[in-house]
Amino acid sequence: MMSEKDVIKRYARYVMQTYARQPIVLKEGKGAVVKDVNGREYIDCVAGIAVNNVGHCHPKVVSAIKEQVGQLIHTSNLYYSGMQAQLAEKIAELTPMDSVFFCNSGTEAVEAALKLARKASSKEGFVAAEGSFHGRTLGALSITYKERYRKPFEPLIPGAKFVPYNDVDAIQDAITNETAAVILEPIQGESGVCIPSDDYLRAVRDVCDDTGTLLILDEIQTGFGRTGKWFAFEHYGIEPDMMTMAKALGGGFPIGAMCAKEDIAKNFQIGDHASTFGGNPLACAAALGAISAMEEEKLVERAKKLGTYFMQKLRDLRHEYITEIRGKGLMIGMELSIDGNIIVDMAREKGVLINCISDNVIRIVPPLVITGRQIDKVVEVLG
Ligand SMILES: *Cc1c(COP(=O)(O)O)cnc(C)c1O
Repeated sequence: MMSEKDVIKRYARYVMQTYARQPIVLKEGKGAVVKDVNGREYIDCVAGIAVNNVGHCHPKVVSAIKEQVGQLIHTSNLYYSGMQAQLAEKIAELTPMDSVFFCNSGTEAVEAALKLARKASSKEGFVAAEGSFHGRTLGALSITYKERYRKPFEPLIPGAKFVPYNDVDAIQDAITNETAAVILEPIQGESGVCIPSDDYLRAVRDVCDDTGTLLILDEIQTGFGRTGKWFAFEHYGIEPDMMTMAKALGGGFPIGAMCAKEDIAKNFQIGDHASTFGGNPLACAAALGAISAMEEEKLVERAKKLGTYFMQKLRDLRHEYITEIRGKGLMIGMELSIDGNIIVDMAREKGVLINCISDNVIRIVPPLVITGRQIDKVVEVLG
């Protein structure tokens, strides 16, 4: 096995330098704990960025993958696959959506949503929110707010507009008869766990209905129990027209999905969109394993309960550098009055993985299987 030093040396030499990586080499994981090559253990409050909701190497995901991998890994969407059929049905059961397009990542799900929205509406414009994050491919990047991410790659797709998040009038003003869709995260992740007011999405839904504009919700980060509901839109008493999901869908295995109601989905016809790997049997088997683990262990309810506990403990710290604790379920942001990256390093040295977004918000998105005792340890370390 390669040492930490050897691994890091090879990255520097052979891997493109697009990530600011922390200096540990992870080797194995179980539940909410990961272990590095030196045998050090960490409580993982990053969870692959809200991916490992069922915990690392959940036995159900592992056995679903093992069973499928010896049977059939990949064919093509030129043929049918039982696993894809089952997963599409399951997603339709869990959401108000009727039909699914499978891909391999979040940004691909967003690309598919943008294409379907244009095809279904015969319009080209998009309205997105300031602070939004929808992915890094050119289409998704066009509706991602951060200038730092977009600027070097312009020109992006024309017709994208940004409006302040949580401001209904701004959305109303931005929609024209050229607007295909409004796309929003029901809770913004990358901008610092930003939770809209309770009536925001309801009001956006009304504006979209009045103007005949599609509403796409990007549930890539908020989906699959993260916020204490299967999907975050359920907190707000509305239904989107289209949804994107990825991150936690496959229990750690890469898979994405774009879903829509039937009257919209029917506009995607043969040849309109495709993906070689999308919905392959192995990825779908992993996702079915992850979803059944979530159901069996009631992880959605668990996220809600433990999220409340976690946030209360963090608030009880009453530390002078903490300016706000906010969140829903186990999607928690701890806003600081200092640079959060210092805290990330200190926590890691004490055995806790967290990450820092927007310079001063610590994002805490642990596996939903984290235990109360592990939460206590994390809070102690953060304190
Ligand atoms: C992570 C994320 C994406 C992009 O997903 P990738 O799998 O990294 O392409 C898009 N939207 C949201 C809300 C995300 O959190």
